[in-house]
Amino acid sequence: MDELRRAVRTAADLTVDYLADVGERPVWQPVKESDRNWLTGQDLPATGRPLSDLVDDVHARMLGYPMGNGHPRFFGWVNSAPSAAGVLVAPIAAAMNPSCAGGDHAGVLLEHTVLRWLAELVGFPHRPGGGLLTSGASMATVIALAAARQRAGHMDGLDIREDGLYSRSPMVMYVSAEGHSCLRKAAELLGLGNRQVRVVPVDDTFRMNVGALRHLVARDVGEGLRPFCVAASAGTVNTGAVDPLDEIADIAADHGMWLHIDGAYGALGVLSGNASADYSGMARADSLVLDPHKWLGVPVDCGCVLWRDPALTRATFSLIPAYLRDDNENGLGWFSEYGPEQTRPFRALRAWATMAHLGRDGIAGLVDTTVQLAHTLQAMIEAAADFELLAPVGTSIVAFRYRPVDDEQCLDELNRQIPAAVQHRGRAFLTGTRLAGTEALRACLLNPATTRDDLALLLDEIRAAAEIQAAQVFP
Ligand SMILES: *Cc1c(COP(=O)(O)O)cnc(C)c1O
Repeated sequence: MDELRRAVRTAADLTVDYLADVGERPVWQPVKESDRNWLTGQDLPATGRPLSDLVDDVHARMLGYPMGNGHPRFFGWVNSAPSAAGVLVAPIAAAMNPSCAGGDHAGVLLEHTVLRWLAELVGFPHRPGGGLLTSGASMATVIALAAARQRAGHMDGLDIREDGLYSRSPMVMYVSAEGHSCLRKAAELLGLGNRQVRVVPVDDTFRMNVGALRHLVARDVGEGLRPFCVAASAGTVNTGAVDPLDEIADIAADHGMWLHIDGAYGALGVLSGNASADYSGMARADSLVLDPHKWLGVPVDCGCVLWRDPALTRATFSLIPAYLRDDNENGLGWFSEYGPEQTRPFRALRAWATMAHLGRDGIAGLVDTTVQLAHTLQAMIEAAADFELLAPVGTSIVAFRYRPVDDEQCLDELNRQIPAAVQHRGRAFLTGTRLAGTEALRACLLNPATTRDDLALLLDEIRAAAEIQAAQVFP
């Protein structure tokens, strides 16, 4: 144990030094060839190495090559800086190393609290057994849509667990053009088939067009298909748009469809002062997915799915072998009865610590600060002659493009090249996307340590990177 104690102390210092200096280092840098070869090509040592050597390797070979999230000028995808409280307790979860499949121990009991807290935070109705922590929103979505599929079968007098999908007319799911790819992945995995996934167009603010949804559902009903689920977004990845949830909930209710809401990134936006009205209807969902490892900053991995009807999800997954039957019955059974995973990590500790450390006010403050930063960036873009905003800013994502000239074809090519060029300069990190057929840049603001100067620097970095690229794009 002395060896472990010494090594852990070194590792603790390394961890805190890393976090303290994160803003001083490049946001991202290319991996040196020698380190790349070591990282990918090393042999399994024939005999074991001391713990302190491993810490040295982490220091020398890994800490210099982060993905970039954690830095105040990381604006890519939807990846946050880790919460201090989450970093603090992560090694303790590893030391306890429970499986949170079930049983009567701290890991399982605390997960019930975390699920209740998350539901309360976003205003979702919660009953014990009303959710699960997952690896992320992708797995959470599979679980939610499996329950939706099972319920649709029940409503039609079928047990899909027993019968599969063979004996019924095709079940149709509706997703907006801005919906996340995990929805389609889940539909494929659940055997629904891509042909049964309808892409509902969006309006000019990138929200699901409910008129088009109504039309598509009516057409499918007319053709004898079974509309069974509509998946709305509470914060899309491209622009942060929140679909008209109340209207979509009405349509779902009219047609006996499951309402699923993907709030992986944006559900927490309901806490932001002005935006909460946009989220009206979120509590009407049959299932709501949110990712504590996004805006909340719980260190990866921590996703979450909440559902309205605990008994239904349990009936979708429960399959208890005799040796795992819970003698200590609290009426809820094991977490492993509510999803496909058996052995499950102690995610609740990182989530609990993060939320307990921030408190409700701190979480609302984190959301407000980052939404405010997005509005600041929006204002800078609107004030600059060479930038153009491409979508309204509702949550904390800003979609825009660099527009030093008017030639559309050149602008598309230039904006396509900008993210990689900015990343390689190492002073800021953003990613791109396509919006309504146009190459776009997008900045996702999740880090409350980001400053106004960081935002100004981002725009200057885009200009500088573009100048280098422009030589190729505008010959
Ligand atoms: C990140 C994200 C997902 C996928 O979640 P994972 O945690 O990466 O599995 C789904 N939907 C939205 C809106 C997201 O931001």
